[in-house]
Amino acid sequence: MSEKSFPLTKEQLEELGRAYPSPFYIYDEKAIRANARRLLSAFSWNTGFREYFAVKATPNPYMMKLLASEGFGADCSSGPELRLSALVGLEGEQVIFTSNDTPAYEYKQADALGAILNLDDITHIPFVEEALGRLPETICFRYNPGALREGNAIIGHPEEAKYGFTREQILEGYTIARDKGVKRFGLHTMVASNELDASYFIETARMLFELALEIHEKVGIKISFINLGGGIGIPYRPEENAVDLDAVGQGIQMVYDELLQGTPLDSVALALECGRMVTGPYGYLVSKVRHVKHTYKHYIGLDACMANLMRPGMYGAYHHITVPGKEQVVYDQICDVTGSLCENNDKFAIDRALPPLEVGDWVVIHDAGAHGHSMGFNYNGKLRCAELLLRENGEVVQIRRAETEDDLFATLDFAGLDGFQV
Ligand SMILES: *Cc1c(COP(=O)(O)O)cnc(C)c1O
Repeated sequence: MSEKSFPLTKEQLEELGRAYPSPFYIYDEKAIRANARRLLSAFSWNTGFREYFAVKATPNPYMMKLLASEGFGADCSSGPELRLSALVGLEGEQVIFTSNDTPAYEYKQADALGAILNLDDITHIPFVEEALGRLPETICFRYNPGALREGNAIIGHPEEAKYGFTREQILEGYTIARDKGVKRFGLHTMVASNELDASYFIETARMLFELALEIHEKVGIKISFINLGGGIGIPYRPEENAVDLDAVGQGIQMVYDELLQGTPLDSVALALECGRMVTGPYGYLVSKVRHVKHTYKHYIGLDACMANLMRPGMYGAYHHITVPGKEQVVYDQICDVTGSLCENNDKFAIDRALPPLEVGDWVVIHDAGAHGHSMGFNYNGKLRCAELLLRENGEVVQIRRAETEDDLFATLDFAGLDGFQV
């Protein structure tokens, strides 16, 4: 069971709502920091362990600065994410660039920052060499185990996934890099997303440790760091349990001791690039009931829509919903909770039991702190909402303002319209 709590009372929300019109996101700094420390502590046995926060989960520089102060680096996959990292002072090996289908200028940008380049394909070795005029001293490759591993629903089966080198390619890739004078090597994989089973990560570590040993044997190079990717899940449903991070850390330590102790790899540093489990449970999309509608079903229309949180519409993902001030009321009204897009999949919940709701009631959508605001879009002319941070001292600061119509139209040249002859 995972308890779905919200850090503010209805009265506090009312007050906040006067300064910041709904909808808005709010993140809980205290909970995020405590969770960040739990993650680092689970791997404190490994010298050199690093968590690179997957920037795409919550690409907000305030969040990144907060996480950097806990010792997190950044996992980037685009130029703008690299730029945000640089802005908050993350550089060098604090940044890993795990991208795919990458343009040359982004490899250059990552290299200029001193980031570790994590290549997605064997053809990217000459591509990077051409882009930079050399290969970097340190390089990492993303491994795709294909049918050797089962994936899961979000990322799919590895052999159907677009990412990474095959098994044959990865051995060849390290050989090429070795021959071209690369000095330090990393090995990476990411085979699951939103996975709640601790043993999955332990098995992934085993797979990579075995591969690193094989690479040492066949290519004669020593892997310096092994990045297990992101993908640690969160209990979106109240009946699910959070991943026991200590169990993951200890399980991986056991496999490490079993396979690597006494081998040339026994000082290999481990890394993760988790996003979802870092901020996901501690971010909330806060909205208000705009309309209540009874037709063939009962509909609760919110002032937020799928443009604010795409996951339910895109993946059919479950997000728990609570109603501040009605915690003690029985959740027995079956309804669909909708947004205002002209798309029938713009629903935050389908056939969900909620308390009786009225226009103006606050509604909190839980576990929206990762892959939430960042997946937002502007279809139907919808504007993305503000992001707020609840500081540890109870103060609330705005870390991103809401979009305006002018933001939406900023790329249109209205002046040119006058001279546009039709
Ligand atoms: C999205 C992504 C992550 C983060 O995944 P989470 O599920 O948020 O932990 C990490 N690494 C790569 C390469 C990704 O694409």
